[in-house]
Amino acid sequence: MNVSPIQDHRTRERGLIVYPVYSRRSKGLSLGVNLFPSHKLCSFDCPYCEVFPFQTDFSFDIELMESALIETIGTASEVKDLCFSGNGEPTLSPHFKSALNRACLICRDHAPSAQVVVITNGTGLLKQDIFDFLIAKTHEERFNLWLKVDAGAGEWFRTIDRPKADVSFPALMEKMQAFTAGAGRNAVTIQTMLCRVNHAVPDQREAAAWEQAVLGLAGAGSVRNVHIYGKARPGPQDPLAQALPVSFLEERADSLRRAFKRAGFDIPIETFA
Ligand code: SF4
Repeated sequence: MNVSPIQDHRTRERGLIVYPVYSRRSKGLSLGVNLFPSHKLCSFDCPYCEVFPFQTDFSFDIELMESALIETIGTASEVKDLCFSGNGEPTLSPHFKSALNRACLICRDHAPSAQVVVITNGTGLLKQDIFDFLIAKTHEERFNLWLKVDAGAGEWFRTIDRPKADVSFPALMEKMQAFTAGAGRNAVTIQTMLCRVNHAVPDQREAAAWEQAVLGLAGAGSVRNVHIYGKARPGPQDPLAQALPVSFLEERADSLRRAFKRAGFDIPIETFA
């Protein structure tokens, strides 16, 4: 790898549109695409969020994105993915569709062994045009949607994700079900954050509800894998959210593995403490 990955994740908040990072979950160099170089924009206010408040005069520019991606790909020995994630919920950007379409072409032409990843909290799926657009994307090569499923029931959802607008948890789960039912095979990664929030942990009832929710999403065949991850980086709301022991994550992963086995699903589950 000849590119120097950004060590301090907060530097992406200084207005960068493309930022190379070493991703523990992608297991290599990930080229982050930041649709919000000027300020954070998200439909959630997760207590574990690592985006610190900031304001710049920069704005997103698709031509700059393209040149930065091509230049960085050209100097890297291996790129694992081009990842839409920085500074908020990508589906809220007016540039989301055009930037993603362009990145898919760049990936095909310049980094054909890489993937294009979209990390989303799922609220974009409540808009029909975003839902249809992303469903179509999942049927393309080299596309992977990382879908946040932090909770199995509304109470923990409101605690760990703190939706800003009046997002109905049942409606969101219903949309996620419809999405995984219509998405391309192995196109979706489910990602779940497990942490303590204001000293509270998800209890057994919440754990069982989450497991059922993930089982329901996985049944359609579009779920490639499950990432269960812990709080590993500082955030602006510390110490509201705190890391849980590795064993907590492993127990939840083992329970889900047993549930997948009983259901006949061969879906890998990884933990990232
Ligand atoms: S969904 Fe992501 S960007 Fe938005 S508040 Fe949560 S962690 Fe932060």
